[in-house]
This record gives sequence, C-alpha cells and structure tokens, in this order.
Amino acid sequence: MRFLVIEDERKVAGFIKRGLEQEGYTVDLAVDGIEGEEFALSRSYDMIILDIMLPKKDGLEVLKIVKEDGIKAPVILLTARDSVEDRVRGLNLGADDYLTKPFAFEELLARIRALLRRGSAKVASSVLEYEGLSLDSMTRKASRAGKDIELTLKEYSLLEYLLRNPERVLSRTLIAENVWHQGFDSETNVVDVYINHLRNKVDKDPTKKLIHTVRGVGYVIKKPDEK
Ligand code: CA
Repeated sequence: MRFLVIEDERKVAGFIKRGLEQEGYTVDLAVDGIEGEEFALSRSYDMIILDIMLPKKDGLEVLKIVKEDGIKAPVILLTARDSVEDRVRGLNLGADDYLTKPFAFEELLARIRALLRRGSAKVASSVLEYEGLSLDSMTRKASRAGKDIELTLKEYSLLEYLLRNPERVLSRTLIAENVWHQGFDSETNVVDVYINHLRNKVDKDPTKKLIHTVRGVGYVIKKPDEK
C-alpha cells in the first residue's frame, strides 16, 4: 500500500515515514502544499496524511482540490491543538479523520487501520490476485492455490510490487527503488536474494512458476506457459 504524507516539519514527517515503512507501507513525502497536491493528483494512494499548516499552499486548500478531483484515498488531517475551526472545516471538506499534534505513532496507526477497514468494506476487496497467487493487503497474508504462505515484511513488499505489475518486466533498479526506496549500484544483488527467498515460498512447483527471470534485465510475474 502506498501512502502520501504531506508535512513540512522535518521531524514529524520523518517520524511518520519511518514508522509507516516499518509497518510495511510505501511512503511518499511531500514537504509543502503545492508538492503535496501534485503528488496526490498524479499518483494513486491508499491514504493521505495531510498537515493543515503548510508552506506555499494551505492543507485545507489541498484537501479541497483533492476531494473535488474525486480522489478516493481517505485523508487524515494533522492539526494544531487549538484549531477547532480548521478541524471542522476539514471534516466538512471531506477529511475522514484528524489527529491533533503532538500524537503518538500508535494513535496514527490505529486511525489508519480503522480507515482501511472501513475502506475495505466499501471497496469490497483489498486482494491482489494473479493465477491463484494472492495477497491480501488488509490482513497482509499471502496464499497460493488456497494455501497460506508466510512472508517477511520485505518479501511481502516485493510480492506486492510484482503483483501490482503483472506481466510487466521490472528491472532490478525499478524493484529496488519501489521496494527498498533507494537505488542500488549494479553490484548489489539484494533484489536477486529476495527474489530467491520469494521463489522458495511461492514457486515451489517448478512446472507452475510465476516469477520469471528476464536475463540481463530483471523479473516479471506471468503465467507459467508464457515464454
Ligand atoms: Ca506544518
């Protein structure tokens, strides 16, 4: 799942981003209202965490534009303790919840989970599925042909990325950037190592392989019979 955090205070932003990444979420960070709005409108997010007091463009203005654009991602507002008026305006503009600063990370996480549960009831499915291999982003469980597969956090993120891009060849660099959020130099084989971990769990039957190597490029998830 990909979250957008729009927050100009470096410390708060860093603390939210790190916490969410430890939970296995992918986080994009925008540091002002204009950047936040650009991100929100150009990519699809599962959740937006939006500070109200932002440079360049106020958080409530960003919220208004995001909601007018029909963006479905739930929005959690971050507000200052004494800004009741902002909170009310925010909720009227379509924000789904708010948190008053300072807050404990656990509190944010609880709000997020509540919204995701609510969302999943509405959207009906949070399951990514390809050829009997599925990943439930709500319960964070993987299974193949109905059998549960235990995954570590990184294996989960990697499989999620592959399943979001079925039948698309993904370079090692692209995988590293999206799953590890950093580029690796070409000497690093961390992607290959994790692909192997994943294969040992997901592709036990060699005749039904779904994760394929594209020599010299990277990997693709596709049907076993397609060459
Ligand atoms: Ca701020």
